[in-house]
Amino acid sequence: MITLKKREEIELMRIAGRVTAEVLEIMREAVRPGISTGELDCLAEEHIRANNGIPAFKNYRPASNMTPFPGTICASINDEVVHGIPKQSRILEEGDIISVDVGAYVNGWCGDAACTYPVGTISPERMALLKATEESLNRAIAAAIAGNTLGDIGQAVESYVVPLGYGVVRDYTGHGIGKKMHEAPQIPNYGKAGQGMTLKAGMTIAIEPMITARGEAVRTGSNGWTVLTVDGSDAAHFERTVAILEDGPEVMTKWQSFL
Ligand code: MG
Repeated sequence: MITLKKREEIELMRIAGRVTAEVLEIMREAVRPGISTGELDCLAEEHIRANNGIPAFKNYRPASNMTPFPGTICASINDEVVHGIPKQSRILEEGDIISVDVGAYVNGWCGDAACTYPVGTISPERMALLKATEESLNRAIAAAIAGNTLGDIGQAVESYVVPLGYGVVRDYTGHGIGKKMHEAPQIPNYGKAGQGMTLKAGMTIAIEPMITARGEAVRTGSNGWTVLTVDGSDAAHFERTVAILEDGPEVMTKWQSFL
């Protein structure tokens, strides 16, 4: 069921969105060669709890046969697409790219956002992938207008990145968000303009293109969580929580990109 949010509920979601976005501002400063993904995770959890929030991913367990997710952030490096588990033993190296995905509940409402950062100096190919993925997110947000459809959002991503030679991960999607992190509808990063559900004012959604340098196929790693590209190619992931309002989309997780 899709819940349309009232004005005062949107106001509460702005607070959750702000705390979530602040974590990514902290990550932008913290990501560097030599830091571990476990340290990044501690910084994120400290900030959320200091703002009376609850890490949304920690202990998240979408199915009874899965182990609860142990981290506050998902830290996904290079060919890892999403859901990487942060660890003290996983040290970032010069030239890596790392997606940090974070969610927080504040006053019972959820924010969700992700950014893929360069670690030190990265190759031009990796930088191009990051830029294209963020641009695809910006285009998708611009399409998140009442009266448009889910297909318009997906098409905005797909029609931009595929001609560049990149792959769109199809096995994972964005999602509605509100009192729960994952609400209906799913927000695919592919589609046809004008098709699918019509968007309405009051919908709040997390749009999150996951884009690969080559093939689109993904697999789940041996820890049961980390999603990797099958062909070992790099992946990037950007996400923002967006409210569809009468006068257009409002980004509720306003972190500033490094780009
Ligand atoms: Mg999400």
